[in-house]
Amino acid sequence: MGNALDVLLLGRARFHELGMRGRVILSQIPLNLTMLLVCLVAAVAGPEELGDPRFVAGQGMALALFAACVALPWAKLPYGLFLVIPFLDFVPIGFVASSASDTLSGLGLLGVFPVMWIAGSGFRPRIFVPLAGAAALLTIWAPVLLSGAATPHSLVARVVGPFILLAIGVGTSVMTLSAMAQQARVQELLERTETREQLLDTVLETADVGILVLDGEGKGMLANERHAEVYSAATPAEGAPLDAEPGMLAYREGPDGTVRWEERGLERVLSGTHVESELYRLGKGPGARVVSISARSFHNHAGRLGGTVVATSDVTDVVSAVRARDRFLSTMSHEFRTPLGNILGYAEMVLEDSGLSDSSRSDLEVIVRNANHVNQMVEDILAASVTGEDASAIRLPVDLAELVRAASDSSRAEASRKGISLTATASAVLPVLADRTGLVRVLDNLVSNALKYSASGTAVRLTALREGPWAVCRVEDAGIGIAADEMEHVFTRFGRSSAALDSEVPGTGLGLALAKEVVEQHGGTIECTSRVGVGSTFTVRLPLRSEGPGSNPPRRPAAEHGQHA
Ligand code: ADP
Repeated sequence: MGNALDVLLLGRARFHELGMRGRVILSQIPLNLTMLLVCLVAAVAGPEELGDPRFVAGQGMALALFAACVALPWAKLPYGLFLVIPFLDFVPIGFVASSASDTLSGLGLLGVFPVMWIAGSGFRPRIFVPLAGAAALLTIWAPVLLSGAATPHSLVARVVGPFILLAIGVGTSVMTLSAMAQQARVQELLERTETREQLLDTVLETADVGILVLDGEGKGMLANERHAEVYSAATPAEGAPLDAEPGMLAYREGPDGTVRWEERGLERVLSGTHVESELYRLGKGPGARVVSISARSFHNHAGRLGGTVVATSDVTDVVSAVRARDRFLSTMSHEFRTPLGNILGYAEMVLEDSGLSDSSRSDLEVIVRNANHVNQMVEDILAASVTGEDASAIRLPVDLAELVRAASDSSRAEASRKGISLTATASAVLPVLADRTGLVRVLDNLVSNALKYSASGTAVRLTALREGPWAVCRVEDAGIGIAADEMEHVFTRFGRSSAALDSEVPGTGLGLALAKEVVEQHGGTIECTSRVGVGSTFTVRLPLRSEGPGSNPPRRPAAEHGQHA
């Protein structure tokens, strides 16, 4: 009973946790308790009722119904059968109510218990709530009808009580249905949240990237095992921290592997800064790891910093492989330079000898041409091995139009040797602030590519003009072209198109990558539009030199790699 009261007083949450039998008993208890109270009141106030057979029968039936609630195996019976009890409850209520004297008038309102039970069960309310109202009416009318003294007037006079019960039933039913709908929704949300949580856990543990989620104050909320593994190199004490602890050994990596400056990377991340694939070194000594950190902050609906997600991938092996490659390329090209210089020097010296036969001269020219070609490749490799460095920090005023004319002049001999017509159209002056050597290299590369990947009888056109705030140079050819899906690839180091590989034109795949680096270091862009078998157009845009102090550099135009339609 104590438990039952507990449940009664503490509300529905625990009621729903009960089994079927418990719920049936609990729903019946209020009526039986009230019936008991009616007995006590009758004993005090109207003892003559205690002797009334209807009163006794009603009380007995109520007890019998309670016993049925306790005894019947409700869990095994079909759901909904429990409604038999509240409907049967109307019989003892009818008996007790009809026995009531004036002292105990209004006992018909005991019907509120079965009505609320029926309505509160939420089981087929459209059928059972009106039936409960009808049963309440019948409870009140039956004694009058049975007495044979029923008149329309006496029947109508008794309608109000049952109507109130019906209204209570409807109200209870509406509230129950709404609560049930809400509960179903909560249940659904709960299940969805659980599924998402499991999904998140699986994603976190499957990812080969360390993931850390920080709240708005920078406290760790969530981290996967990989995060702990990656950051273990950065923690002097045992155990990886979930948030950025003071003393964490995180250093910003310089492009060449030197530690540029010491900085608590995560602190910057916590302040809401957007971090995109920045290299950090975690820890010191041989156990140090190089990691790439990306971080994004998110804001909550109030617009405040809601938290930050930090993704860390261990790129130690990749970085050391790239550095080993660059070191190798650099050493190799340095080693090539001296003997190549000697070959070229001596060959040119012999060429100056006027007594040389025509055939020896022509042979020597082939040697010089090829040695020059190898020399150019060595220079490219050497430039490429200086990873990510802006070698051209010192910029001087340069005329791009003049550079374009010079590039055309220096390639004219090569063009005519290949039977390609090379023309250059350039505006008067296109002042840019640039590293001259870098730009000459870019233009030479574009022109030599245009000649290299074009057949005899075609034309290569160079143009240099002003377009808004930009100095623009275009190199157009009618050569082999580049497939759309290879466009990005040819701008990466060692990237060569399949058409170029098939044509067996020699190359390193470094020129365009270097050109892109140089142009971007100048705040410009390089783009290509091309169609296989039709030709290519490379466009370089550089900011025109600002006219006066305080003028801003132009915004980069969006890249337009792709094919002409
Ligand atoms: P490479 O030494 O191979 O010419 P580049 O970096 O200069 O290296 O060029 C990369 C690749 O881009 C080339 O291998 C070639 O496939 C493609 N490419 C560059 N310029 C042209 C062009 N004008 N026409 C067709 N393909 C080109």
